[in-house]
Amino acid sequence: MSGIQIYDSHQGALRTFEPLQAGRVGMYVCGPTVYSHVHLGNVRTFLSFDLIFRYLQYRGFKVRYVRNITDAGHLVDDADEGEDKVAKRAKLEQIEPMEVVQKYTVNFHDVMRAFNALPPSIEPTATGHIVEQIAMTQQLLSNGWAYEANGSVYFDVEAYSQTHPYGELSGRNTEEMMSGSRDLDGQSDKRSPLDFALWKKASDAHIMRWASPWGEGFPGWHLECSAMSTKYLGEEFDIHGGGMDLKFPHHECEIAQNKGAHHHGGARYWMHANMLTLNGKRMSKSTGNTLLPEELLSGDSPHLSKAYSASVARFFIHQAQYRSVLDFSDEALQAAEKGHQRLMNAFKTLSQRAKQGPKEGQFDVQAWQNRCLEAMNNDFNSPILIAHLFDAVKAIQADQNDPAHLGQAGAAALLGHLEAWIFVVLGLQADAASGTAGASSQKALDAAMAIVLDARRKAREQKDWAASDAIRDLLAAGGIQIKDGAEGSSYTIQ
Ligand code: AMP
Ligand code: ZN
Repeated sequence: MSGIQIYDSHQGALRTFEPLQAGRVGMYVCGPTVYSHVHLGNVRTFLSFDLIFRYLQYRGFKVRYVRNITDAGHLVDDADEGEDKVAKRAKLEQIEPMEVVQKYTVNFHDVMRAFNALPPSIEPTATGHIVEQIAMTQQLLSNGWAYEANGSVYFDVEAYSQTHPYGELSGRNTEEMMSGSRDLDGQSDKRSPLDFALWKKASDAHIMRWASPWGEGFPGWHLECSAMSTKYLGEEFDIHGGGMDLKFPHHECEIAQNKGAHHHGGARYWMHANMLTLNGKRMSKSTGNTLLPEELLSGDSPHLSKAYSASVARFFIHQAQYRSVLDFSDEALQAAEKGHQRLMNAFKTLSQRAKQGPKEGQFDVQAWQNRCLEAMNNDFNSPILIAHLFDAVKAIQADQNDPAHLGQAGAAALLGHLEAWIFVVLGLQADAASGTAGASSQKALDAAMAIVLDARRKAREQKDWAASDAIRDLLAAGGIQIKDGAEGSSYTIQ
């Protein structure tokens, strides 16, 4: 079996993953700007990296996963002019910027928990790292890649691009960028429209401000990720991730800052997750073409016919590889719900399998497991993994008719692998909302069903077929299917 292949969007190619330190991975992922609720598009990107985090851990790597919170410095136009997104929201809601930050950070954490995303190892904030950002700006000034103008400090793209390939990540060149950029309007302190702010002077109205060697101001958006990834993962680290839309300017600028400050471009592998669309258009806060997690979980949205569980949505998301565009629709969610249910039912059937049949079965569990590993080794190809999981579902069904299909040892091995893929790697949950019960309610349901099945067994012993059938039909109407076998009766939830 080969090692893990990662599509490195910097090189534009699949590369065999070789961590800097054997057995360890340093991974940085750009986190949310906490000025409003996260939408399902944001959730998709964070779940894509959660899957990667989970798989790397499953493969035995010790991962330090850093995902930041942007709580200052991100301006409304994603460039250097305009209001700070957080400050703008604070005015709108008539609360303090830090209240905005708190409110939406809590919401983000609630959403991540609901979708069973593991917390990162470190979750640093931009406002908590002003000192590091000032130090990096000073380093860039002293290395000659930045200049101060009227209390702001800008990265000098023209100077840098004489000796460095600015545009190396996004594939743009500086001439194209110049022709596509607006002329400086005479109001700007920048020398060139390509330059970007490392530090911005705060106007009198700007609330979020800190003292610096250049007067009161605030850091540029791109700087926080360079400063915090360096602080927690080092000048060179393994993986940097984020959504596709962050490639330019955000990540391009990060590389320039890192190379300018300490010669390394930061990450050795750049990973970009593709977009979730709604009606064919990118989900985006600014256009309002969004669906919120809360709407999905309550079903309260014109885009939905009903509510869906977070686990079903997670299953839907991982049915596409992280690098392809995924379109959200109610029909697709309905299909995902059915698939999720089939998978959970098969897992339950296998976990309740009686010890029967020969020791070894016909189904080659090890070969199947290798196929699953290969799928994930191939740039975290979760749809192929899921297709293999459904091969296991078929094998479990075949085994119900013929226990020689899996055999006792095969069934035990398959159960262990399936449990890891479904719950540990894919992060799915057998929750009540999706039709299968969580651990405690599952126990209660099993106890109640044992009583019902016992009553039905007694009716059958007394050849009271009418009562036996009535119990079966009533349960079926409630979505519970009974299966009679040589070892007694079992149930599944449809
Ligand atoms: P933001 O809070 O806007 O900085 O976005 C947080 C993360 O969500 C970034 O990695 C974005 O690239 C990502 N993102 C934004 N919109 C979408 C979308 N429609 N689909 C997938 N990811 C998205
Ligand atoms: Zn970032």
